Amino acid sequence: MTVATRFAPSPTGTLHVGNVRTALHNWLLAKQHGGRFLLRIDDTDQERSREEHVASIKADLKWLGLHWDGEERQSARFDLYEAEFQKLVAAGRVYRCYETAQELDLKRKVLLGRGLPPIYDRAALALSEADHAARAAAGETAHWRFLLDRVRAIEWNDGIRGPQHFDPAKMSDPVVRRADGSWLYLLPSVIDDIAMGITDVLRGEDHVSNTASQVQMFEALGAASPRFAHEALLTGTEGKLSKRLGSLGVAALREEGIEPEALIGLLARLGTSDPVDPALDAPALAAQFNLAHFGRAPARFDEAELHRVNAAVVHRLPFARVRHLLPEAMGETAWEAIRPNLDHIGEAADWWRVVTGPITAPTLSDEDRAYLAHAATALAQTGADWPALTAALKEATGRKGKALFLPLRQALTGMDHGPDMAALLPLIGREAALERLTAAA
Ligand code: GLU
Repeated sequence: MTVATRFAPSPTGTLHVGNVRTALHNWLLAKQHGGRFLLRIDDTDQERSREEHVASIKADLKWLGLHWDGEERQSARFDLYEAEFQKLVAAGRVYRCYETAQELDLKRKVLLGRGLPPIYDRAALALSEADHAARAAAGETAHWRFLLDRVRAIEWNDGIRGPQHFDPAKMSDPVVRRADGSWLYLLPSVIDDIAMGITDVLRGEDHVSNTASQVQMFEALGAASPRFAHEALLTGTEGKLSKRLGSLGVAALREEGIEPEALIGLLARLGTSDPVDPALDAPALAAQFNLAHFGRAPARFDEAELHRVNAAVVHRLPFARVRHLLPEAMGETAWEAIRPNLDHIGEAADWWRVVTGPITAPTLSDEDRAYLAHAATALAQTGADWPALTAALKEATGRKGKALFLPLRQALTGMDHGPDMAALLPLIGREAALERLTAAA
């Protein structure tokens, strides 16, 4: 069976770093096996779902290069859910309940007060057809619970957490449908995973207890469970899911100059025993992706690290990838000269202005000014050739190291740091370089 994974965001907000990580890992897992990565929009909650969020989720995935091989929307699948639900009704695996939230709360408190686990007591299971008819006549509508099979333990071998074991006798029958007929997340997700042929469900460990219920739902619907893997959640540097991290959206990172390759490079490896490697692109990361390398400890997301990875990525980006983001006249040689100095592609334009000028002439000592006058004469001979120019000046003036190089850099760029002068000087060109040296002298 070919591998099929899915990313199933609820369009109640935009993607943040945690969702991106889940999407990416599902993409990597699918691509590693030459399988399919599917997008499922979990929009059963029609009140909180927004079309603009669907659009921004898709735009972010595209920007990241996480292209999907198929797409479903839960809001278009209510007929399927109804049909599958009726099978469970016929099989007696779902049952009607009427307790209000307050009643359930009270039951829980009573149990907890007696030192017992707050498990739903299945009182509604004892209702007769006459009871249901009486409630219907009184205008009451039922919500539905899934009847867990309490005889056998629920077990699966989790791709990250290893063997999992749940005792269904210690679980409440989960509510799967509200009194107004709307769906909760649990059952539609199982119905879709079956219908979409999902072989691997990879998601956050906040879903582990959902999985325990869902394992029985797959069974009740006559399907084999997919493989499950639950990854530790992402935390901020301070060790918990910070507000900043929860709201750290892809759009904000993009505005800060983070490149998709950096976000992918970091998130692919965060929480694993594999080092982050800015040289690896998404297909290479897919080839090396290994669930067994994921740890159980929360993965720490550090924005400063993302910026470091970003710089390392930018230093490798080929001209063809960035051309449209650079000043019109800036060519490949200039890009290659300048990129080692960048944290963000946007800064290339600043350095390009240093190349094209005008620059502000530095204020220097008389001694350095005399040296630069000398340099202008030398440059007239050597041309815009840094090794030749500096070799000639070293020979003629006896200067070396900083004294040799720094005044030249300052005069030629107006800065005391920057890209390699050997690469920069030819870009500035003989004429402009002569003017700058003369101006500073
Ligand atoms: N819409 C669910 C969520 O965002 C999907 C969970 C799942 O992957 O099954 O939590």
